[in-house]
Amino acid sequence: MTLDGPSVLEKVREQEEQIIAELSHIVSMSSYTYSPESVDLLQQYLAEQLRKEGCRIEFLPSENPQFARHLRAEFGSGEDQILVLAHADTVYPQKYISAEAIYQEDDRLYGPGVYDMKGGIVQLLWAVRLIKALGCQTRYRVCIIINSDSEAGGISSRRHIENEAIKSKAVFVLESARVPEGEMKSSHCGSGRYRLKVSGQSGHPSQSSPATSAIQELSFQIQRLHSLSQPEKTVVVNVGQIWGGDTVNTVSPHATALIEMRFLDPKDGAATEELILNAQPFTNCQVEINGSITRPAMLRNAYTQRLMCQVKHLAKHIGLEFGDGVPGEASDGNYAAALGVPTLDGIGPVGGGAHSEQEFIIKDSLATRTALLILILCKAKFC
Ligand SMILES: [Zn+2]
Repeated sequence: MTLDGPSVLEKVREQEEQIIAELSHIVSMSSYTYSPESVDLLQQYLAEQLRKEGCRIEFLPSENPQFARHLRAEFGSGEDQILVLAHADTVYPQKYISAEAIYQEDDRLYGPGVYDMKGGIVQLLWAVRLIKALGCQTRYRVCIIINSDSEAGGISSRRHIENEAIKSKAVFVLESARVPEGEMKSSHCGSGRYRLKVSGQSGHPSQSSPATSAIQELSFQIQRLHSLSQPEKTVVVNVGQIWGGDTVNTVSPHATALIEMRFLDPKDGAATEELILNAQPFTNCQVEINGSITRPAMLRNAYTQRLMCQVKHLAKHIGLEFGDGVPGEASDGNYAAALGVPTLDGIGPVGGGAHSEQEFIIKDSLATRTALLILILCKAKFC
């Protein structure tokens, strides 16, 4: 068949129910980043599906045994390669996964991980299946990396992503896109992660000075860290996790916080990092902080703009229109973009509520974005 947009979309729509059923299935498979056995089960399922369609499959070792191994798949032929990135892990431990947590309401499908980013993964599976079923050829050899540690910053898969990105003409990231428009992104914030450790002195609350409480010291540090955010400059500092103390009737001798910083301008990122790392105690406790910028910012340039124009043009063939998204999130695409390879993110379905119990996608966007992915893989030309 000729690969025109409307007929590709029609073919995808014929499979719509099965696409939604498969998405519900893989959402029901818990794949919490810090549960490598469960992530590996999903990776094995994905490898099996891709192998059936003729993809060459390889598992890549994780640099850190805390995370599951990563999946590499390849199909098509030719010297020139394009790279498709996805991640199998989610932020949801097993307790969030239940039959009740995955449901459809009006035009939406809800579920933990449906948006970030199992919707994009299921699009990929169906794009590969339909390209084969339609008897089409991809314009370039397609390398797929599905990593297992993206929600932990992608540190143990970064080397594999960079190895493939540097050989690629373009990189497409299957993260979802936000309602209502589903804009794609050619720029992203960079991010850094830090750990703050506070040491105090334990004792009976009635006999000790509050100035030795690690929890009190941490509370001051949290205020300081949050005050470093500058929304007008797209700099965000967030203390995402804290713990500490021994018992309710003991002055806390220890407390810890995990911090994330996001930035758009690398200069702002470096300046804010310096402030984060310059933690001085407010009380008689000791503070120790370490960490660094882990994901470089993904900046828009003439090459990514050209890539965006081409994808928008293909999208028009199936009646899709969207603008350029504002940077906020960081993704594994940042690693590819930092090497100067044109990178586009947000190819996944349209939805919202990432990392919450209200995560959802618009069902219809699964079909349209799958069709768009097929058109990108088969028709787009990169210089
Ligand atoms: Zn994601």
